Amino acid sequence: MTLPGSLDEAVAALTAMPAAVPVAGGTDLMAAVNSGLLRPAGLVGLGRINEIRGWQYQDGHALLGAGLTHARMGRPDFAALIPALATAARAAGPPQIRNAGTLGGNIASAAPTGDALPVLAALEATLVIAGPGGGRREIPIGHLLTGFDMLRPGELIGYVRVPLLHAPQTFLKATGRTGPGRAVASVAVVLDPARRNVRCAVGAVAPMPLRPLDAERWVASLIDWDGERTLAPEACAAFGDYVAAACIPDPAPGPDGADPGTLPPAALHLRRTVATLARRALGRALA
Ligand SMILES: Cc1cc2nc3c(=O)[nH]c(=O)nc-3n(C[C@H](O)[C@H](O)[C@H](O)COP(=O)(O)OP(=O)(O)OC[C@H]3O[C@@H](n4cnc5c(N)ncnc54)[C@H](O)[C@@H]3O)c2cc1C
Repeated sequence: MTLPGSLDEAVAALTAMPAAVPVAGGTDLMAAVNSGLLRPAGLVGLGRINEIRGWQYQDGHALLGAGLTHARMGRPDFAALIPALATAARAAGPPQIRNAGTLGGNIASAAPTGDALPVLAALEATLVIAGPGGGRREIPIGHLLTGFDMLRPGELIGYVRVPLLHAPQTFLKATGRTGPGRAVASVAVVLDPARRNVRCAVGAVAPMPLRPLDAERWVASLIDWDGERTLAPEACAAFGDYVAAACIPDPAPGPDGADPGTLPPAALHLRRTVATLARRALGRALA
């Protein structure tokens, strides 16, 4: 395994050895190796790259290093900066996973259950991608998650640029009945008073986080942005239902107008779960 000391050295190592794979905390990658799903020809370890293990401030944004661990993001100083991401980090697996697993690994794995992903989608974060020859390019996180843009050979996620909104934001996650673990559904809600909007993303119910844009616009129009920024419980409940119906829609009629039937019980249950999470997430953000 190669252990470069800088982002550009890591990119150079990957460019020189195209069959090699980057590894950060190894929590996802080594699980794939151990189960025989992946046999990388070489590994480029990112664990010694100090420049991506912290964060810095830049033009009203935080520039988060891809090597930040969940444990680090869960600490109070980070929570004061980006509360929803800290909450998601605290919910990401057991302590040994949070100590090793990183923000960059969570994004690159792009698992539907990745807890950081709905938060970053709601924050409209952008990724700073490091490429050969010291190159840097920025893409919205949604472009990577939807496959609209992909990491090219030798490229690495270097940083995540997140706007500092100085306003309430929440993340809530529902797990299976067997106890804490991967999300069955998760919801991030972010208030952006400067743009007078509410942004919401729902995780785990689709291959990538979903943004219920109509529900966002509707609820933002109800809020008195210059006043108390409170909403009646009924409005929060209606928002929850709106979000859930957008993410888990009723079956569409067939091409000949045939009766589409109703949602299967499991989908109906998931829709209720999303509605509850979205109602509570908005209520807490406005509390
Ligand atoms: C038991 C268990 C429970 C878990 N529970 C949760 C959970 O509740 N919530 C949750 O969100 N996740 C969970 N995870 C998943 C995992 O811990 C996270 O996705 C973690 O953030 C991955 O980070 P890593 O540094 O370990 O990535 P790695 O395993 O090192 O890498 C993962 C992938 O990302 C690539 N990669 C890593 N860093 C970069 C980079 N900077 N640029 C480009 N590519 C990169 C690697 O090549 C690899 O393909 C769990 C995992 C396990 C094993």
